[in-house]
Amino acid sequence: MSNYCAGCRYDPAQRTGPKACPFTALYWDFLLRHDAMLANNPRTAMQARHAARLTPAQRRDITDHAARFRAAIGGT
Ligand code: SF4
Repeated sequence: MSNYCAGCRYDPAQRTGPKACPFTALYWDFLLRHDAMLANNPRTAMQARHAARLTPAQRRDITDHAARFRAAIGGT
């Protein structure tokens, strides 16, 4: 497999923090915002279960981090 992230200043394994990959943070934020819908779809239920295991503090960190990314690019 290729590692397209090798030279990036971000770490794709980190959801939050200064080295968190924006795509990783936004992915987890998407899972949290749409958990009910994703949990009812057999193709996405596993991802929803992974998101359901996050602690309230982890959820808050992801939500805050993703909001900062969206604000930085002019999103909502
Ligand atoms: S921004 Fe994220 S997905 Fe893109 S290269 Fe960097 S670590 Fe990889």
